[in-house]
Amino acid sequence: MKIVDIRATTVTVPLEAPLRHSNGAHWGRFVRTIVEVETDNGLIGLGELGGGGESAEAAVRGLLPYLRGHDPFQLEAMRFAITNPTASLYNNRTQLHAALEFACLDIIGQHLGVPVHDLLGGRLRDAVPFASYLFFRYPNESTGHGEVRTPDQLAAHALELKAQHGFTVHKLKGGVFPPAYELDCYRALAEAMPGDRLRYDPNAALSVGEARHFAQAITSLPNDYLEDPTWGLNGLRQLRDIGIPLATNTVVVNFEQLATNVRDPAVDVVLLDTTFWGGIRPCVKAAAVCETFQVGVAVHSSGELGIQLATMLHLGAVLPNLSYAADAHYHHLTDDVIAGGKLSYVDGAIAVPEGPGLGVTLDRDRLARYSELYKELGSYPYDRDPGRPGWYPLIPNDRWAQP
Ligand SMILES: [Mg+2]
Repeated sequence: MKIVDIRATTVTVPLEAPLRHSNGAHWGRFVRTIVEVETDNGLIGLGELGGGGESAEAAVRGLLPYLRGHDPFQLEAMRFAITNPTASLYNNRTQLHAALEFACLDIIGQHLGVPVHDLLGGRLRDAVPFASYLFFRYPNESTGHGEVRTPDQLAAHALELKAQHGFTVHKLKGGVFPPAYELDCYRALAEAMPGDRLRYDPNAALSVGEARHFAQAITSLPNDYLEDPTWGLNGLRQLRDIGIPLATNTVVVNFEQLATNVRDPAVDVVLLDTTFWGGIRPCVKAAAVCETFQVGVAVHSSGELGIQLATMLHLGAVLPNLSYAADAHYHHLTDDVIAGGKLSYVDGAIAVPEGPGLGVTLDRDRLARYSELYKELGSYPYDRDPGRPGWYPLIPNDRWAQP
């Protein structure tokens, strides 16, 4: 079996409402690049990449000369052909490699008639539990609905998601408003859903001192962990005595950093992102290192559609040491590009796909519709806030939005 073609299509899929974060916002939609890898026996494997547009599509297609004639089974060979660690100093292709790895695993699974999780050691669970992943949201521009700004709105939104999807773990994406205000919001969640687990992620926007103060104020709440409360391994290391586990998806995203965190611990939980780490298999390898050293793992979300969500489900299915619910932005989306539309949550979990390969297929009509929508709307700057023109944050930040 040999790779004969690689295609890339940028799509944009609407969100219920714009999602705010410490660097800016997702402006009411996600922009993603859908990657298709075709083989000489007519199989098509699917991959997905964050962002899009002409340059992203060209970057994906630009790897065809590297991979034409390559056997999709030869995944380690592909890793060194595309992301040799020293060559990567000049051409960082980690996320491009991830999309190609997803597609090759999809092809291998289809070729053998087995789901990807069977290629990764076999599944240990039939469904992966998820947290509710709550954002402060601007109202939807057309409908005026969907705003989340006040503690009451946040608690109501969380209760609605809990009723609809069965979440029992809730993650607040903060770093938007002053820390004291976000503390009130976090407490409102605890009060609205007693017995449920909580986590807070200000995207590293707080100073070490503010993070310590926030942690001290929530010690008695049922916290899973504090996620990137401050910037950097050295900042996080200063918080190791706060009595709440620390997690990161920003500063342990490769094996060098993981080794550093083992030798000189900064975080207790590593959030594995199938894109940031360069594929599903690097995440499985990283989870094995974490298992060896008793570091916790969870599955991170970087704003996925159904293809990347499938990679997160296969990953979550095979990790023995998945000790926390996964994150997904997925329930903020209004639709998906996969056949059958969005996958469903049942009791706060999503079933692991059972079909061959990734177990999801493209809905060509939806792909065309959301590709057209991208051509109409274009990209948006992730690190700008539509409500605050010209604004940008510092780290640690002091330029908070006013609620
Ligand atoms: Mg995070």
